[in-house]
Amino acid sequence: MKFKNETVLITGATRGIGKAIALAFAKEGADVALVGRNEAALQQISDEIKALGRECSFFGCDVANSQNVQETVNKILDKHSRIDILVNNAGITRDNLLLRMSENDWDDVIGTNLKGVFNFTKAVSRAMLKAKKGKIISIASIIGITGNAGQANYAASKAGIIGFTKSVAKELASRGITANAIAPGYIETEMTGQLKDELREGILKMIPLGRLGTVEDVANISLFLASKEADYITGQTIVVDGGMAI
Ligand code: NDP
Repeated sequence: MKFKNETVLITGATRGIGKAIALAFAKEGADVALVGRNEAALQQISDEIKALGRECSFFGCDVANSQNVQETVNKILDKHSRIDILVNNAGITRDNLLLRMSENDWDDVIGTNLKGVFNFTKAVSRAMLKAKKGKIISIASIIGITGNAGQANYAASKAGIIGFTKSVAKELASRGITANAIAPGYIETEMTGQLKDELREGILKMIPLGRLGTVEDVANISLFLASKEADYITGQTIVVDGGMAI
C-alpha cells in the first residue's frame, strides 16, 4: 500500500486512462477525488473505489473553466483536507488539417488540454506549497514531441504541457514538490477506438513492441512518478510508446 493516507486528484477520470489511474491509486491505498463532466460515470467509478475500502468523492467540473476548477479544488480540500498528488489527465482531440481547422477546434483543444492543466496545477499548488509536499503528473502525448499531420492543435497543447511542466518543476522544487509529464504513444481507449482498421495496421507497424499500449501501462508510470522512489525526478517527460518514437 504505497499511498496509504494520501489523497490523489485525477481529472478526466470518467473512462480510459484516467479511470485506470484512479483504480490503480485506490488499489495502492490512496483516497481518490475524481473529476470529469459525466457525473453518472464518476458515480460508478466512485462506488468501485469505495468497495476497495477507500474514501472517494467525485465532482462534475469543466477543466477549461478556471472558476469551476477553483471551486472544485476548494470542495475537494474541504472533503479530504489534503491533495498529495494531482494527475492532469483530461484531454480531447478535434483533428483536422491546418487549413480546415476551425478557430473553435483550436480553442477547445488548447482550453481543455493546456489551460485545464494550468487551472488545476495553479489551484492545487497553493495547498501543496503549504504542505511542502506534492507530486504533479500531467498526461501529455508523444504527439507533443513528434508532431502529427492533422493534429496541430493537439500537438501544440501537449508540447505546451511539456514546457509548462519544466517551468513548474523549477518553481516548486524548493518546496519539495515535483512536476513530471507522461507522453503515451497509442493506447487502447475510446479515443483510439475510433481509428480505422487501415490506419491502425499502419500504426502497429511503427511500434517496435508490436502492440498498442494499455491503460495500465500508463497507470503504472503514474504510480511510479507519484511514489517516494521518484522523489529525485522532476521536470521530466516519460515516454510510454512501445518504442514508437525511438
Ligand atoms: P478519453 O477520451 O477516453 O477520456 C478523456 C477524459 O477527459 C474523459 O474522462 C473526459 O470526461 C475528460 N474530459 C474531456 N474534456 C473535459 C473537460 N473539459 N473537463 C473535464 N473533463 C474532461 O481519453 P483517453 O483516456 O484516451 O486519454 C486520456 C489522456 O491521455 C488525454 O489527455 C489524452 O490526450 C492522453 N493521451 C491519450 C492517448 C491514447 O492513445 N488514448 C495517447 C496519448 C495521450 P467527460 O467527457 O466525461 O467529461
